Amino acid sequence: MAFLDGAVCNFLAVKECEKRLAEKGFEKLDPADEWVVKPGGRYYITKNDSAIFAWVQGTGDAAAGWRIISAHSDSPGFRIKPHAEMLSKEGVLQLNTEVYGGPILYTWFDRPLSIAGRVVLRNPEDALKPLVKIIKFDQPLLTIPHLAIHFNRQVNEGNKLSRQKDMIPVMAILDKQANVDNYLLKMVAEKADVAPGEILDFDLTLYDTTPACLVGPNQEMISSGRLDDLSMVHASLSALMEACDTPCEQTRVMAIFDNEETGSGTKQGAASPVLCNLLQRLNMANGGSEETFVRAIDRSFMISADNAHAIHPNYPEKHDPTNHPVLGGGPVVKINANCKYMTDAVSAGIYKEICRKADVPVQEFVNHSDSAGGSTLGNILTSQIDLRGVDMGAAMWAMHSCRETASPLDHQLITRSFHQFYIL
Ligand code: ZN
Repeated sequence: MAFLDGAVCNFLAVKECEKRLAEKGFEKLDPADEWVVKPGGRYYITKNDSAIFAWVQGTGDAAAGWRIISAHSDSPGFRIKPHAEMLSKEGVLQLNTEVYGGPILYTWFDRPLSIAGRVVLRNPEDALKPLVKIIKFDQPLLTIPHLAIHFNRQVNEGNKLSRQKDMIPVMAILDKQANVDNYLLKMVAEKADVAPGEILDFDLTLYDTTPACLVGPNQEMISSGRLDDLSMVHASLSALMEACDTPCEQTRVMAIFDNEETGSGTKQGAASPVLCNLLQRLNMANGGSEETFVRAIDRSFMISADNAHAIHPNYPEKHDPTNHPVLGGGPVVKINANCKYMTDAVSAGIYKEICRKADVPVQEFVNHSDSAGGSTLGNILTSQIDLRGVDMGAAMWAMHSCRETASPLDHQLITRSFHQFYIL
């Protein structure tokens, strides 16, 4: 829950990972430098400050292969537009935003929101290498007030929302004549502890300030923003940190991509060569050739970890008639006849065997045949690297809501299965 509360956006998710990896002795490498990687060494790199790849260098030769767990750092929400300040005639200051990914818009109303993200600063030494600061305001700064029911008595019969009209957050009540030029920029400069003139640009998003909590008299549920997919980021991170003292011939990798929610099509996304480039580089650093790289890929396995849907008690008709994943029933293997998931009988079998060794129960998810369902990282990655792998995740409700619900027991079970995979 501390991880979820800290990792309020993609940049902060990476920062939270870095903090924990550094405590465990992982060394940050700069992709622009030459690398010396030693067997058993612990390393990580970041990409765009919003994706992170950590690994424990294997003790085997270059053809030994990789054990990879992948997940994503981003969640649906709102990004602040440039020149965002909008002052109404009455002096209400709002911030213009753009929707990121596919949030359930309704769930963002009437919440204490704040701002976090990346600030890019002038570097007097090198214009091509601007400086970066990651900021998080921590205190509530905005809210998106819903229209009162008295102005729309039909609101509970379905109410279409405009992203531009209905979803604009309110930040302050000011004097009608207030000058709001650079209002946000000045706040950001103060938070980043720099002069406003040093700021070149920023990537800032909104987040819900309500902390994660356990729910139920027996605490079987966890309620939080961003469980998709930060719970899987945390599970893979915990498993790698726990496994890194156990020697292994294969190199164990945690690959956290960004921009899954918008189709993975960025340089830090799963559709880019970022992971393939890293693996090629590790192959070369281990004295490998093109041939050893192909052999290593053939020996490798990936767990693509992104959350799944638990059967919803109010909507059983939305789910497959025979496969009903539940909260607390263990990891969910995701299967699709049209290959939207990378799972096949071989890879599902491998993951089930890993879970059996770890004494972890496994569930299966398939779509109701009349619904299209989602997609995820695994099959996108295989367009870059012909890896074997399984798509799986934790069962959850309300995916893409401002607050999602999952099971703390599943989190333990999944982390245990990941640890087992890393120490096989
Ligand atoms: Zn996801």
